[in-house]
Amino acid sequence: MFGEIFDALVRLLAPVLAYTAEEAWEHAGREGSVHEQLFPEVNAKYATSEAIEKVEKLMEVKSVIQAAIEEKVQAKVFKKNNEAKVLLTVPGNFSVKDLLEDEEFAKEFFIVSQLKVVEGEELGVEVSQTEYEMCPRCRRYEPLLESGLCARCEEAMKS
Ligand SMILES: [Zn+2]
Repeated sequence: MFGEIFDALVRLLAPVLAYTAEEAWEHAGREGSVHEQLFPEVNAKYATSEAIEKVEKLMEVKSVIQAAIEEKVQAKVFKKNNEAKVLLTVPGNFSVKDLLEDEEFAKEFFIVSQLKVVEGEELGVEVSQTEYEMCPRCRRYEPLLESGLCARCEEAMKS
């Protein structure tokens, strides 16, 4: 389910924001280039003005998060996007609150290590450095298991 929404969103975004979509696609470990993928089938679930509004909202949140991350990178708190731990404040009626609260989705979409959502008056963001270590296999900052790998990589090694 998560993968399906993620793929559809990334593909919808690809023509608009080539670099970001490409980066997100790669980060999610998908094959090839997002620009070689077919546009998601005209599926009523996604290809509605509501979906497009949601994407725009997500991009607005992304720019707010990105600005906060840039500040930390400038201040040399950490070096890369994927080292960021993000605390987002969103109003209760925020249209993409449910998507943001899906941490797996949000982490991949914003390319950060951790993301938590709290409810508040207006959109706000706090960024700090993740407390997680880098997984040596996928280079994401994740809780590492005894094997030294993140849960996703450990799963991948088993199969
Ligand atoms: Zn990993």
